[in-house]
Amino acid sequence: MQRIIQEPSRSTPVKAETEVLVIGGGSAGVAAAVAAARNGAEVILVERLGYLGGLATGGLIILLLTLDDGRGRQVIGGLCQEVTDRVAKRGAAHFPPQSQWGSEDAELVRRDQRWGLVWGHGPHRVRYSVAYDPEEFKFALNQMVEEAKVKLLLHAYACDAIVEGDRVTGVTFQGKSGRFAILAKVVIDASGDGDIFTSAGAAYEREDVLPWLWFTMGGVKNPEAAIDAGGWFFHTLGEGRVLLPWGATERVTRKIDATNPEDLTYAELECRKRVMEEVDRLRREIPGFANAHLCHIADQLGITESRRLVGTYMLGRDDVDIPCDDVIAITGHWTKYEALYYIPYRSLLPKEFSNLLVAGRCISVDHRVHHATKEIPPCLATGEAAGTAAALAVRGGIDPKRLEVKLLQQRLTTHGAILRV
Ligand SMILES: Cc1cc2nc3c(=O)[nH]c(=O)nc-3n(C[C@H](O)[C@H](O)[C@H](O)COP(=O)(O)OP(=O)(O)OC[C@H]3O[C@@H](n4cnc5c(N)ncnc54)[C@H](O)[C@@H]3O)c2cc1C
Repeated sequence: MQRIIQEPSRSTPVKAETEVLVIGGGSAGVAAAVAAARNGAEVILVERLGYLGGLATGGLIILLLTLDDGRGRQVIGGLCQEVTDRVAKRGAAHFPPQSQWGSEDAELVRRDQRWGLVWGHGPHRVRYSVAYDPEEFKFALNQMVEEAKVKLLLHAYACDAIVEGDRVTGVTFQGKSGRFAILAKVVIDASGDGDIFTSAGAAYEREDVLPWLWFTMGGVKNPEAAIDAGGWFFHTLGEGRVLLPWGATERVTRKIDATNPEDLTYAELECRKRVMEEVDRLRREIPGFANAHLCHIADQLGITESRRLVGTYMLGRDDVDIPCDDVIAITGHWTKYEALYYIPYRSLLPKEFSNLLVAGRCISVDHRVHHATKEIPPCLATGEAAGTAAALAVRGGIDPKRLEVKLLQQRLTTHGAILRV
């Protein structure tokens, strides 16, 4: 039988009160915070680690797949395009020129496959996908947060939602110096794992997944030849560097619950050990790797999925290519061509709460559609939509659930989001 202890009740100091509180500084959370602040809200963004970007930086998932519809038309713009522009301006992004998007030219496709920009089954086309440097991506996110005057709090772990009726009025946090609360008019859960909607009591589904651990190596001689010889790695930014999406071939075969510390500990240790074995194998067996060195093993396990909200609407595979009235973002599919999902505002809204929004990989979609909506570009797009909605709701003196979606759509398109193709 599970032993239980009773913790003494305690008084928790309120550190701050704000209009919009965003939990999680991954791609979705940063986009939410920046969008909310740019639309006039006072925003606090809280992240448990010491840097921004989540999987898109610390997970070394350094490929934006994709900003297009598979036919050469861009379907994700807004903040995703802005981050790309900022990183590209510093020479730290690699992507095909617009004139080539949608091209079926086999040589161009092969060129982009070497960079990890084209996936899935053919017949292939050139996609608008982007390889980038993770440190530069972090820098761009820091700049955007700072310029928008978002109040950023790193190294604080969100513990519990503070619930009053159908409202989440704040969140408690744990830092090294103790526990504290932040109160807010609107809360956005961009924790990736849905920590806030779970503690609030919203409905969700959870998947066990196989863990990944991407890494990079440098000093590779003639990486192109090694890739063409069938190596499972890609060019990445930096001379002689390759990105190894470890977990795709030889891998840990035990699925884990990414919200369970014991499972995570197993995966961290096992993946790291296997990655080092792979480094040794590459040096031993693959021409060009003899003197290669390990640059970086991802700081975070690659967790594709954990909890997904069961919200006001759950976008399902049958919704493919079907527009909806309350669309707040459109995404293509990274392994498929000509498959579009129109993400409704309802997928960001828990059924149970009126002022809680959800953004990023844990929005309300089914397991299949999650393959598409979990990608970094749609995470940035749903974050941008959640942040914009939060700011509009605060300005209008209403909860996000009662927001006029047309108003949100107008504001998003004014800021470069694409809601129609
Ligand atoms: C193996 C793998 C391969 C992938 N390949 C690609 C690809 O090639 N291209 C692509 O576009 N996408 C890819 N993805 C998907 C993509 O990387 C992620 O789904 C996306 O980055 C998720 O963004 P997010 O902001 O929703 O969540 P995350 O990036 O997970 O961010 C969540 C943030 O919240 C913080 N946080 C969590 N809990 C708390 C808490 N309690 N308190 C405070 N902070 C908290 C975390 O530290 C983190 O910074 C891949 C994913 C995986 C795992």
